[in-house]
Amino acid sequence: MRRPNYFASRGFDRAGHRRQDPEWMAGALRHPDARVLLVRRAEVALDPAQRLVQVAAWEGLVPDHGLVFLGEDADGAPVFCVDVGVMADAEEASGADAFRFVDLRGAAMVLPEDEANRAAYASAMLTWHARHRFCGACGEPTTTDWAGHVRRCPGCGAEHFPRTDPVIIVLCTAGDSCLLGRQRIWPPQMWSALAGFVEPGESLEDAVRREVMEEAGVLVAEPVYHSSQPWPFPMSLMLGFHAPVGDAPTEVVVDTNELEDARWFGRDELTDAVADGGVMLPPPFSIARQLVDSWLGT
Ligand SMILES: [Zn+2]
Repeated sequence: MRRPNYFASRGFDRAGHRRQDPEWMAGALRHPDARVLLVRRAEVALDPAQRLVQVAAWEGLVPDHGLVFLGEDADGAPVFCVDVGVMADAEEASGADAFRFVDLRGAAMVLPEDEANRAAYASAMLTWHARHRFCGACGEPTTTDWAGHVRRCPGCGAEHFPRTDPVIIVLCTAGDSCLLGRQRIWPPQMWSALAGFVEPGESLEDAVRREVMEEAGVLVAEPVYHSSQPWPFPMSLMLGFHAPVGDAPTEVVVDTNELEDARWFGRDELTDAVADGGVMLPPPFSIARQLVDSWLGT
């Protein structure tokens, strides 16, 4: 079995059955080993040792006010996160000191895998809350329930659940070459696998075929699933594929509205270019890099 991608869980128990049990939740907030992550949207609090700040619960924490129950650690300790933007006194009340908020991408370079998982989970949940303060059906302000896992509309009764947006990411291969593209806004040498949001009414395979055809004019027949990765920027799920398209590279027609360039790289050419700095691949924690590395066999 391949290792889970970075940001994925290593077996963290979300304890979903606890979410609708207010009595248990009240007890969990008094649990002597309860852990609370401090989050400011896409930023997480790190201590000087670059570890996630996980402080004890304090008096005044209420699940409906910027606090989300994440689950239970293996030792039974309940784990929460709090949005310090919503709970204005959280930074001070938490008693945490010597921490700083770090953008999740920066944190991803330093956090161990189990902490990266809960940081990603917390950030995606709190971003969802921040973006769903009003009912999408009738416009009334919504309230939270189930320890932060549902928002309800008192106006029309609609229930809104946390969202995750599916994105396909695909490395096309042809014989000993792979297809990489680059966006204008990226650093000059950065190349990566092609990616795009899944549209309504599409299967994942449809989305892979459409994105590759749109962006590079290359025909994909059968994408092969590789793995997935929670991608909390802000709340996506990356679904990774390899797509063998034949024995030899075909012509590439770049959609310059989407990409600055796309082209085939031979295996040796790519390996050499990465070694001498001519090509920069996405960071090792990304599924894009995993798709390339697993094809290279590195
Ligand atoms: Zn409503």
